[in-house]
This record gives sequence, structure tokens and C-alpha cells, in this order.
Amino acid sequence: MFTIYNTLSRSKEVFEPLTPGHVGMYVCGPTVYGDPHLGHARSAVTFDLLYRYLMASGYRVRYVRNITDVGHLENDADEGEDKIAKLARLQRLEPMEVAHYYTGRYHKFMDMLGVLSPSIEPTASGHIIEQIEMVKRILDAGYAYISNGSVYFDVEKYARDHNYGELSGRSIDDTMAGSRSLDGQGDKRSPWDFALWKKASPEHIMRWPSPWSEGFPGWHAECSAMSLKYLGDRFDIHGGGMDLVFPHHEAEIAQGTAACGHPSARYWMHNNMLTINGQKMGKSLGNFITLEQLFAGDHPLLEQAYSPMTIRFFMLQAHYRSTLDFSNEALQAAEKGLDRLMKAVETLDKISPTQSTSGNPQTFFDVGEAESRLGDLMDDDLNTPMAIAELFGLVRIINSIHDADDAWVLDATGLTKLKEIFHRWVFDILGLRDEKAADAGGTDRLTPVVEMLLSMRAEAKAAKDWTLSDRIRDGLAAAGIRVKDRRDAPSEWELE
Ligand code: ZN
Repeated sequence: MFTIYNTLSRSKEVFEPLTPGHVGMYVCGPTVYGDPHLGHARSAVTFDLLYRYLMASGYRVRYVRNITDVGHLENDADEGEDKIAKLARLQRLEPMEVAHYYTGRYHKFMDMLGVLSPSIEPTASGHIIEQIEMVKRILDAGYAYISNGSVYFDVEKYARDHNYGELSGRSIDDTMAGSRSLDGQGDKRSPWDFALWKKASPEHIMRWPSPWSEGFPGWHAECSAMSLKYLGDRFDIHGGGMDLVFPHHEAEIAQGTAACGHPSARYWMHNNMLTINGQKMGKSLGNFITLEQLFAGDHPLLEQAYSPMTIRFFMLQAHYRSTLDFSNEALQAAEKGLDRLMKAVETLDKISPTQSTSGNPQTFFDVGEAESRLGDLMDDDLNTPMAIAELFGLVRIINSIHDADDAWVLDATGLTKLKEIFHRWVFDILGLRDEKAADAGGTDRLTPVVEMLLSMRAEAKAAKDWTLSDRIRDGLAAAGIRVKDRRDAPSEWELE
């Protein structure tokens, strides 16, 4: 039974899809006006894990993750310049050049992190008509008003009929207290109202015709309009970063309820934020690290480069609802842990059924039990830290079977099953990749050469020609190939 923590009910709930066997999920994707950074990575990895786990559990999943390429203003009070248009002005580019460039960068870095492409990736600028249609529905329902060419959502009226603030736990009074001064609220009746459509000022370049003015949609409109289009007016899971709970997701619930008469998403899931050396990440704090800088080790706070899989593994080692603190020590520990896991995959491939059937049959290892423990942990709101700990338990068993210390025994069927489970969990569900094997590239061609040298070395040792034997070992070491001698068994080797 898969249980997920629903932000709306503030409790873990048993997941029951609206249509048996099918899941519709919508996740708020990036605003494409800057290079992908750690915040993008955490949200993408969290929902990639959910996507992978749902598929591995046998569901057919339609995963919609949008690209915000219009309508995200500099502040949440519906004022200021569009972030993409601003960058375009500064760099003398078309806004769509900016959006296209950063969308490409986002895809590239998500690929490196092993994040699967969603089923549909709609853009806000490609769904202006749908957004206008939705604004019309909200106006018809009486929960919006037109003011000087712009359309605003009437939060006060909505709050009288519905539970505004149910997701974030804020009331209208809190919202007012938390909002900026009333200056600049412009055409709004109340500071807590939000824009559904904004009339473009003369210098605003991203603009479309609408019944109310030449303008552009409000930021919250796109997700409601696109989830409605691709997942219908009721769907299973809506996700995003915790920073989106208010105002973005609260506004989405209000828009959906106003337009359709009922809320659309059943379960709301939010990943927690990350900190760097205990501090919130922010451009003004000098600790804003892009993924490119992280993978290249090119930032004053970084002692070294960290590979994409190290970052992914590090993120999975924490529960998605916990804050995650980045530090060199923590990343280096993750790098070592990942290395142990990947070595175990290689070791598992070397175990032969004869090895696994020798020894004391009293210590037969139950693979099925290990698999159901892994499933139970992930069914508990995606408990990856515990599932990874369980996998490390398997690593110890794999190593002990390989070293033939007779602590554990596996028959041929059990061994095949262990390989299958270990591969499925490490690669398919956690989405990890053996970067060293991939980086080596030429390993396949290297293998016969190294094997030949090792057999020559074995002959030299048998003939007590220690000079030649050491020469071969040292020559391999100089090429970054470490030889591990084993008692009563052929030597093994690995790339350093
Ligand atoms: Zn959104």
C-alpha cells in the first residue's frame, strides 16, 4: 500500500488513484530565465523518483511538468518586469531566445542527473488561449473582476464561499499582514487579489490579444489551465517545491475551484528546500551554485567537482520532506557511498552460482524478504534514506558471498533474483548510473588486455619470477588500474 504525505490534509494518506492503474501528476517546472541550480535539481529529482516508483509499481503515469516562459514577474505582488523579458532586454535578445536557451540548459542538466523526461512538457506561452478561456470561466463564475484592462481574482469573495488558505494554512488576515505596503497595488481592489491577466505597459514586449487588453497571463494561470487541458478537471497528484505552496499553489486551488466548481488535485506533494553550509541559498549571499559550477567544481565554496550521480545520490539519501544541507563533507561522504554501491553491482556480476551454493545451508539468504522490505520502505511516503540503508545491507551480503566467507548462501535462483532486484532498485527506481564505467568508455576494449597481463603475472608468480610479477602490477597501477590479489582465487582489478 503506497502512502504519501498530502500537504492539504497534513497527514499521510493511502494513495488511491482516480482511475485504477493510472496516475495523472502535474509538477510545477522551472521558470527559464537563468541557469539550472541546486533548487531545480532537488524538485526534479524528487518527482522523478515518484514517477519512477509509480511506474515500477505497475501504474501507467501521465506526468506533466510545465516550462514557465512568460508571466513570472519580479515579485509576487504582480508588479515589476517579466523575468524573461528583463533578461532579454539586458542581453538584447528576443524573450523566446532566452527561454529557448535556458530550456535547453535545463534539459541537458536534468539528463545528466538521470531525470527522465516527463510525458508532456507544455509551455505557458504555448497555452495563452487555454489561459484566456479559464479566466473567462472564472469571470463567469463571479470570482474575478476586470480593472483597467487587467483581470484579478477576487480572493475576498472566494474566501466567503470556499476555504481559501487551506493548503498553506494562511488566512486572509495573515495574507494582508504579510503583504507589502498598499503602494503599487494598482488596479487591485485588495492587496491579496492576484492577477489572472495583466494589461501590458507600452514597453512590455511579451503580449497577446485578449478580450480585456493586449497583455499577458498572470503566473498562476498557466498551471491551472495546462493541468486542466492535459489531466482533466480532476487528477491525482500535484507537486512542486515547498516555496510554491503560497501564493502559487494556493492560487491554483482557488482558480481551479472557481472555474470547475471543485478542486482539481487530490494529493499535494512538496519537496523541502535546501541549504548550503546551513544557510539558505541566495544570489546576495554568494552561495548560489549552479549545476554547471557544481559538476565542474568551479565555485569558491567547492573543494572539488561533484558528479551528477553524487548529487542525485546525496539528494536521495535524505527524505524529500527534510531540508537538505550541502557541504563538502556531506558530498564527499555521498561520493564514497555511491562508489560502494556501484562496486557492489560489479561484484554481483562476478559471483558465480558455484560460489554461491557452497558453504553452510543454514545461512540461506532470503532475497524475496529483502525485496519486500525495500517495497515497504518506499511505500511509506518514498522513504529513500531507509531504502538506501537496506541496499547497503545487501551490499554487505554481496561482498560476503563474493569473498566466500560462508556467512551467506545463495542458490542459483536466489542469485539471479538478487541481481535482478539490485539492478532494478539501483538503476530503474533510484535512477542512478555507473558513471565510472560510463566514463571509462574504453573499458570493454581494456578488459582483454588487462586479463592477459594478469594471466602472465599469474604465470610469473607460479615460476617465482617476482620481478616480472611486480613489474606488471606496477605498470598497471601507473595506468590507473589497481590489482587486488586474492587467496586461492584469480586476481581482480578495477579502475581507480
Ligand atoms: Zn505551477
